[in-house]
Amino acid sequence: MGLVLWCCLTKAEYMKYKDPKQAVHVRTRDLLDRMTLEEKIGQMVQIERSVASADVMNKYFIGSVLSGGGSAPSPQASPEAWINMINDFQKGSLATRMQIPMIYGIDAVHGNNNVYKATIFPHNIGLGATRHYMLLRDPKLVKKIGAATALESRATGIPYVFAPCIAVCRDPRWGRCYESYSEDPHLVDAMTEIVPGLQGDIPAKSSKGIPFVAGNKNVAACAKHYVGDGGTTMGINENNTVINWHDLLSIHMPGYYTSIIKGVSTVMVSYSSWNGVKMHANRDLVTGFLKNKLRFRGFVISDWEGIDRITYPPHANYTYSIQAAIGCGIDMVMVPYNYSSFISELTFLVKNNFIPMSRIDDAVKRILRVKFAMGLFENPLADNSLVDQLGSQEHRELAREAVRKSLVLLKNGHSADQPLLPLPKKTSKILVAGSHADNLGYQCGGWTIEWQGFSGNDLTNGTTVLTAIKNTVDSITNVVHEENPDPKFVKSNNFSYAIVVIGEHPYVETKGDSMNLTIPEPGPTTIRNVCGALKCVVILMSGRPVVIEPDIDSMDALVAAWLPGSEGHGVADVLFGDYGFSGKLPRTWFKTVDQLPMNVGDPHYDPLFPFGFGLTTEPTKAY
Ligand code: BGC
Repeated sequence: MGLVLWCCLTKAEYMKYKDPKQAVHVRTRDLLDRMTLEEKIGQMVQIERSVASADVMNKYFIGSVLSGGGSAPSPQASPEAWINMINDFQKGSLATRMQIPMIYGIDAVHGNNNVYKATIFPHNIGLGATRHYMLLRDPKLVKKIGAATALESRATGIPYVFAPCIAVCRDPRWGRCYESYSEDPHLVDAMTEIVPGLQGDIPAKSSKGIPFVAGNKNVAACAKHYVGDGGTTMGINENNTVINWHDLLSIHMPGYYTSIIKGVSTVMVSYSSWNGVKMHANRDLVTGFLKNKLRFRGFVISDWEGIDRITYPPHANYTYSIQAAIGCGIDMVMVPYNYSSFISELTFLVKNNFIPMSRIDDAVKRILRVKFAMGLFENPLADNSLVDQLGSQEHRELAREAVRKSLVLLKNGHSADQPLLPLPKKTSKILVAGSHADNLGYQCGGWTIEWQGFSGNDLTNGTTVLTAIKNTVDSITNVVHEENPDPKFVKSNNFSYAIVVIGEHPYVETKGDSMNLTIPEPGPTTIRNVCGALKCVVILMSGRPVVIEPDIDSMDALVAAWLPGSEGHGVADVLFGDYGFSGKLPRTWFKTVDQLPMNVGDPHYDPLFPFGFGLTTEPTKAY
């Protein structure tokens, strides 16, 4: 495009929208005026990559493609394979009459986590635990993680990520609790600093609400899930959030307001309802509040098959659901498979005046605005110039730093004057036990390579806690690894102490809803067999607080490690005193599940460990 000599075209040939010197709003208007209804509706559709092809893109004018959780060209696909796949779809879009590029989106929610060998950062709950640094006004860590995630996404040709999740999880029984930074709206709000990390810093003179993406090393972000997703009754996924307007506004809304100020390009609507009204059909909140009051100018995207859930069988009526969703203000719809019936139903609705043309124009204008703003028209095809960014040493160091800062020390010895941590590097023999000690999949949790995560060590790169311990201790220290040691083994080996790494198994969304929040077996058995017999430190990997009474009594030290991701070294760094413990609880740690929901500020607040709790140890290295 850069080679076109704009000066020498006749008026009829000169298409303003193709001229990068024109302002985004001028280009958007010009293009919109030239489009047919069919082309406009196509822009509003996002399909899954498994049903996409250059032909489909071309025939239906599809505006966007996504990888549903874990949907990769193959689990071990190279960055080049991703780039080729995405470019192939893009060529279909570029061959349409108006040559409008599609935008490819993915759930890069803790790094570019669907991609083999990407750096996997701690899940959001762990980043929330680094709050100590937030309070010291150092939001740089999360911003740097955003920038690294953007680079690793662009390395594989991906310009759009469905992150950050700015849910304020008010009940840990929710299976998505770990996708939430905190129960506290202020902390979640501070963490929106990831938005300028992903998209780049918005220029000082930009008007409020205008989507912004700095360039080819940044990506369009998506604040999700609007709004109140973390407030459902008993934490049941996709359920009903029963709270008044004041609480919705003061607990669940601030993160959206701040993200919009920071130029977030897109907002995803929540599956949940607010006081019985499905968010996918809530015109007051989507059009009335988000677009009109908060002046959000990017596009609103539905969740995966979100509109199908507006009405349920036997009353299900797809046409009605489409009318409700588009009518309420949703601009792009994640269909993801059933696109041809969606397109024909929406066309019917517009042609018969059930949905006004002005609504379609608003949706398409917003989508085009984002595409123009991010330079997609000028650079629609990805190249392999950033491939080295994927899993780079620098990003792994950053993830390791995040792990160190996210660890919350809940117990250290049975009295303050006899701490167990930090552990000595030099000793005769230590036992490393537990299902999570040498399991990269468990360490990374859900949304990693596969939608529901994976177990084992062979699906991506990284360092397990066991390997990190072996690399950290002195060469004379004998590290014995036994996943499920029996009591006899524990007693007969002259161990000086034990490190037990246990926790939850990976889960995503509804599959993670839990009404009892117990640590799954064999974790409790390992604790029983090891702790008590030996001095033991328990490293707990979980997406949320879990029931730890009475087991905690037998532990000499306890560390909440959340879902730390690919860099197990961060755990060993702190355990053996190279760095101090500094993480603070981003959530209240309850005693029993019948106390739930219980959040900081509640009248009858009686936690095991309060919000913000976290013991410290002295660092031997400066940060
Ligand atoms: C989730 C979203 C996600 C989408 C696309 C949905 O099930 O709720 O958070 O972005 O899938 O994978």
